[in-house]
Amino acid sequence: MTAVAAYAAPAAKAPLERTTIARRPVGPHDVLIEIKYSGICHSDIHQVKEEWGESLFPMVPGHEIAGVVTAVGDQVTKHKVGDRVGVGCFVDSCGECDNCKAGMEQFCLTGATATYPVDPNGDHMYGGYSTHIVVTENFALKIPEGVALDVAAPLLCAGITLYSPLKRWGAGPGKKVAVVGLGGLGHMGVKIAAALGAEVTVLSQSLRKQEDGLRLGAEAFYATSDPATFEELAGSFDLIVSTVSANFDLNAILGLVKTGGVFVNVGAPADPLPVHLFSLIDGNKTLAGSMIGGIAETQEMLDFCAEHGLGADIELIDADRINEAYDRVLAGDVRYRFVIDAATI
Ligand code: NAP
Ligand code: ZN
Repeated sequence: MTAVAAYAAPAAKAPLERTTIARRPVGPHDVLIEIKYSGICHSDIHQVKEEWGESLFPMVPGHEIAGVVTAVGDQVTKHKVGDRVGVGCFVDSCGECDNCKAGMEQFCLTGATATYPVDPNGDHMYGGYSTHIVVTENFALKIPEGVALDVAAPLLCAGITLYSPLKRWGAGPGKKVAVVGLGGLGHMGVKIAAALGAEVTVLSQSLRKQEDGLRLGAEAFYATSDPATFEELAGSFDLIVSTVSANFDLNAILGLVKTGGVFVNVGAPADPLPVHLFSLIDGNKTLAGSMIGGIAETQEMLDFCAEHGLGADIELIDADRINEAYDRVLAGDVRYRFVIDAATI
């Protein structure tokens, strides 16, 4: 075991503070990664606040990890010392079940091992707000040259969470796509959907971020606080992806889906949302969900981002500003992802 520096929430809802955690020794199939940057996902905040149910503390959040390999086990073939790598929301899976074989390791039937806070055996896992991490080589992704590590970190969750449903549901030329919520996930959704060739609209609570939305690649920007938006855009979109982190009027948004179109939800608010089923049956609409993406698809997304010159728009912070960053995410004051400089941990 090696002691490394980290930031942890000592208890549910408590502010994060500097601490020391143990990382396992580098096994034959493991890589040791010196973490350079770690993104702050709204999921980190949901979990520190125990909004998704009881959890395990002290909690070291962080599943948007970018760094450099500094040691490899003697059986490792995929990475070598000096490689630029990323780690996302999970760090192991059985590799043998139908879902793993189908490239959906996040849905491993024996339980994928989350990056944090706990593995399927109940053992404590520590995430990316730290200086080093040890992971099985197959769960470290290659960050292509051409994408800087700081703007690459958020791709490991925000990037793949939008890339996967946009690809699956056919975002591309001739398709009208709306992204609901212009935060960390949403801004990557706009960039990726535009790069895929779709005509992109942002649906935000207000017009405050309109200029940014258009700069990121959207062709139109509407406020969901304005009732006129729902009249003007009724039945407009082939595909709508919602990244909203709180409860919202799902039935109103479903009214904006074209006949035969699709609404995909990726936001994860704690409380249930009422759906009026007539919102779906009237228009043969599909209501879908999506959770991150598998390892091969995450690599495909990273390569796609490199090819299209995409990274996240970030605000780089020192680790002693994590709590302030959480408050600012909750206040909607982020453009568009806080990333921790791990050298300051
Ligand atoms: P974020 O940066 O805080 O963005 C969320 C956006 O939602 C905000 O920027 C805001 O956009 C909108 N929003 C917030 N409160 C709202 C409200 N009361 N009504 C309407 N819109 C509201 O968060 P994030 O990191 O992108 O994460 C978004 C959600 O996705 C979180 O719930 C997170 O846990 C979840 N998530 C899911 C997955 C998955 O695999 N499915 C992966 C990662 C994260 P505007 O200001 O533009 O309105
Ligand atoms: Zn995340």
